[in-house]
Amino acid sequence: MKVLLTGGSGFIASHCLKTLLASNHTVVTTVRCESKGERILELYPESFKGKLSYVVVPDISQEGAFDEAVISEPPFDAVIHTASPFHFRFQDPKELLDPAINGTKGILRAIKDKAHSVKRVVITSSFAAIVSTDEHPEVYNESQWNPVTYEEGIEDRSKTYRASKALAERAAWSFMEQEKPGFSLATICPPYVFGPPIHPPESQATLNTSNAYFAMLMHGGWKEKLPPTGTWLWVDVRDIALAHVRAIEVPEAGGKRFFITAGHFDMKDVADITKKRFPEYVDKLPTKLISDKPSPLYGFDNNRSKDILHLEYLPLENSVVDTIKFLQRHPL
Ligand code: NDP
Repeated sequence: MKVLLTGGSGFIASHCLKTLLASNHTVVTTVRCESKGERILELYPESFKGKLSYVVVPDISQEGAFDEAVISEPPFDAVIHTASPFHFRFQDPKELLDPAINGTKGILRAIKDKAHSVKRVVITSSFAAIVSTDEHPEVYNESQWNPVTYEEGIEDRSKTYRASKALAERAAWSFMEQEKPGFSLATICPPYVFGPPIHPPESQATLNTSNAYFAMLMHGGWKEKLPPTGTWLWVDVRDIALAHVRAIEVPEAGGKRFFITAGHFDMKDVADITKKRFPEYVDKLPTKLISDKPSPLYGFDNNRSKDILHLEYLPLENSVVDTIKFLQRHPL
């Protein structure tokens, strides 16, 4: 298939790109500037020439941002939209809300109006679009929605990221209902995504949000106290990439949301694995490791991802070990 992938320099998107190429798809990826595009091309050998290129989209929150990208190398069969800010260093909540919501609406509008060959669109949403932090159900699945509003996202910084993801995904499904375009939509809703990045980070500041926890651990930031877990569910980035690629390939994935999680975890589990596999970091951890999993802990139902996308999840130990080894090879 010919696939347009947005945000190809990102943590999750760079794994999507690798998996797409490994599955023999041809990929055009969007990046914010040429140097990021060139960096991606450098990662892939000559044999991928003709199968990989990039197009610059500097800011997805701008109206018409994707108008040229969707016809940059027609005809695309599928689009995977992952670009969206995932960080907590914003001044104004709109720095998160606008790119997430406008970027999602904008790409769907551009595809409907200009790229009629596209038959499947996959959007990276999040467990943030499912979770109800005020009152957890017994078991989380794809039927639940975070009730957060735009106003709460503006007023309460702790809710801004979650609002950006929930409102973007809601906007996507509303678009499908109202506009009835000629393509089907699937959304991917992961909780914490761990695993080794593909791009060596330039500095601790540019390390993606999920892996920043590991860099912190290796630099002694967990010594006094483990960081709070927050969301007691996780998944490896390589499984998330596979989920995106299967979601464009599997016909039955159309029209569905997918809750993609390998299962429960907390930072004590990460610390226990680190202690066992990397004894050199024992003195960077508290002497007594305390779990912060609540009781009762909400359950999860990831059966749809297994039945339709045929996912088999990597265990936490693989993810932790591979991430720490990666950061050891690329010290910050
Ligand atoms: P990254 O920060 O690594 O990737 C985000 C990507 O979006 C980058 O390519 C970034 O470009 C791009 N981007 C952000 N804002 C804009 C903008 N205004 N205009 C153009 N491009 C923009 O994060 P992840 O890979 O972790 O996240 C990817 C997606 O997955 C996001 O939608 C996130 O919400 C979702 N997600 C992530 C989880 C995780 O634990 N990592 C969990 C659940 C969902 P640049 O780097 O050049 O700024």
